[in-house]
Amino acid sequence: MTVLRLALPSPLRQLFDYRLPAGWPVPEPGVRVRVPFGRREVIGVLIEVATDSVWPAEKLRPVLAVLDDAAVLPATLWQLALWAARYYQHPLGDALSQMLPVLLRQGEAAEPEPLRRWQLTARGRALAPDALRRAVRQQAAWDALAAHPQGLGEPALRALGVTRDSLQALAAREVVEVVADVHEVALPTPALAQPALVANSEQAAAVAAVIADLDAFAVWLLQGVTGSGKTEVYLQVMAAVLAAGRQVLVLVPEIGLTPQTVARFQARFRCPVACLHSGLSDRQRLQAWQAARRGEAGIILGTRSAVFTPLRHPGLIVVDEEHDLSFKQQDGFRYHARDVALRRGQLEGIPVLLGSATPALESLANVQAGRYRRLALTQRAGGAQSPAVRLLDIRGEKLEGGMSQAALTAMTQTLQRGEQVLVFVNRRGYAPVLLCHDCGWQADCPRCDARPTLHQSPLRLHCHHCGHERQPPRSCPDCGSTDLRPAGHGTERLEESLGQRFPEAPMYRVDRDSTRRKGALEDMLNEVTRGGPAILVGTQMLAKGHHLPHVTLVVIPDCDSGLFSADFRAGERLAQLLVQVAGRAGRAERPGQVLLQTRQPEHPLLTVLLGQGHMACARLLLQERALLGLPPSGHLALLRAEAVQLERPLQFLQRAAVEVMAAGGGVAAWGPVPAPMTRKAGLHRVHLLLKAEQRASLQQALSRLLPWLESLPEGRQVRWSVDVDPQELV
Ligand code: ADP
Ligand code: ZN
Ligand code: ZN
Repeated sequence: MTVLRLALPSPLRQLFDYRLPAGWPVPEPGVRVRVPFGRREVIGVLIEVATDSVWPAEKLRPVLAVLDDAAVLPATLWQLALWAARYYQHPLGDALSQMLPVLLRQGEAAEPEPLRRWQLTARGRALAPDALRRAVRQQAAWDALAAHPQGLGEPALRALGVTRDSLQALAAREVVEVVADVHEVALPTPALAQPALVANSEQAAAVAAVIADLDAFAVWLLQGVTGSGKTEVYLQVMAAVLAAGRQVLVLVPEIGLTPQTVARFQARFRCPVACLHSGLSDRQRLQAWQAARRGEAGIILGTRSAVFTPLRHPGLIVVDEEHDLSFKQQDGFRYHARDVALRRGQLEGIPVLLGSATPALESLANVQAGRYRRLALTQRAGGAQSPAVRLLDIRGEKLEGGMSQAALTAMTQTLQRGEQVLVFVNRRGYAPVLLCHDCGWQADCPRCDARPTLHQSPLRLHCHHCGHERQPPRSCPDCGSTDLRPAGHGTERLEESLGQRFPEAPMYRVDRDSTRRKGALEDMLNEVTRGGPAILVGTQMLAKGHHLPHVTLVVIPDCDSGLFSADFRAGERLAQLLVQVAGRAGRAERPGQVLLQTRQPEHPLLTVLLGQGHMACARLLLQERALLGLPPSGHLALLRAEAVQLERPLQFLQRAAVEVMAAGGGVAAWGPVPAPMTRKAGLHRVHLLLKAEQRASLQQALSRLLPWLESLPEGRQVRWSVDVDPQELV
């Protein structure tokens, strides 16, 4: 009997045995298989072929179909999946299924139809370079093929913006022809479409260091102040990798993958760029995945999950803004794309280039330990000066719409000079609290231990934690007073008050609400980059990535909220955010200034950050972490459990804590304790933090603990999960 041991998309941490029907050829591991599972049919991946099972033969169900001739993932990705499932303590079947595009999980063919390759005919080659200028699309097709005399496959042509219609029209005129239906494709030559900038000495040194050895695993941390030209370093390193016929995987944070970013990569190289982001249809995603897997796409640009894209000729992985929180998946398979990228670089034997103005403390510790090599860009590129940052002590000051007089004066002056102001608030909506002025009652969310945000357009109380929405009451439910007032300032309210104060300045509000329409953000940014006085009020969305050359003043009305948070990473995050936001100021020729309003002007984090810079601040935070044994000086895993009644998750995690303590092994259990926001969406949430000096002891403890927890009947009465290297203790 031939037994197929499968990983199935199931939350259970186990493999499943099935029988191969007699007479079927034995498939190779890594192929997809369709099987009955309970009353459903699911698609799983073959992990191993065996001759016997712990189950009696008559209990084994036969597989229904084998979907592939060969493994869907190359060997290195396969190893990566095994590693990630173990490291993040996640069921292999579910991890594997998340690595595959949705359509492949649904059973579509992994290999696309054979590829048609096109090239110019003798007649086509004889045409004058602008012979087709009256037919713009045909001209574009001719340009692309003229630049690639060896011909181009259809996905590559598509990526270069060439339509099949225009190819067919040209074929009818015998200007182009199909050369072959091929499976194997060479990477199109990445002729530079645009010359590289002249690198300054720091950039040149960074590029030279990385390209000195492209054939081995190495981790580089490119630490460059905002505006120092990190992207130019990536581009010049990429040019060397592409010229060697290899592919580059570039990971960017979710809000960093803007059309601006994509355009920058596309403009430099005449080679297909495959984009992988959440805005794609399943079909587009599969096509981009296939183009990467077959080696058609030279550059693969994507967010977190793109780290699992198979590459035919892997050459380099770039992780831009490596400190960004969006690289960590916060539910289900809780991997960190930067850390997966590092492991992948090691498996593929290629360099990994991490970049940030504000590296994660983990990365800085890795530099100290000699595991990463640091490359520094200390100057802004292109002659721009670093902005002057000033704290505004607002204790005792009467604010006007949340703004101090000093900030308003600076705004007036900036606008009068015809320049732009960015006001950064990390809160969308009108006001974070609706308050009764007579008795102090505050509106709350019926389902969470949280205050819902008051929104004006349309008018509602909206809980940002569970999505609950309702009309604000007309009078106080406690005392009946009708004097209900908003407290605090969100983007909507600042837009309103600053609009009244500066009626002549064009106003742009950038937050999740104002940019919901596709293209809305791009339209706003296009107008803003044209120049002229303007006020931008925005959240996180404006903090990074975007190039805003006319902004010379950044105001942060409230930087204190980040100083008081239960999360041990709050200080690190605040410092990163302040540096990133400040980095928006003065990116062109004019100098910029940044004003931070605070009631904590003596707070060490702020004074060190402003007085001595981000590195000094990071050193301070690293010392603090070392004292507490927190990452990167120790290793954490967070067990979360939730249920309608508080007792259930509490008791469940109590058993886990006892088990861990009893086992010893260098792992401490902190808790269980109710989560900072205990009730969320109607469920009570409890945390148990596991902490170890050695990563290996933590892994061992988890490997023992989790199957045991899974077998407990109490486990079925709560929803629970494990988060290895948690980024947020919420
Ligand atoms: P970072 O990503 O480090 O914040 P960018 O890569 O966005 O910085 O570069 C900031 C600006 O400096 C961009 O407009 C870029 O075109 C410009 N720039 C980068 N390198 C150079 C250079 N060597 N010479 C001139 N301008 C440069
Ligand atoms: Zn009241
Ligand atoms: Zn809520």
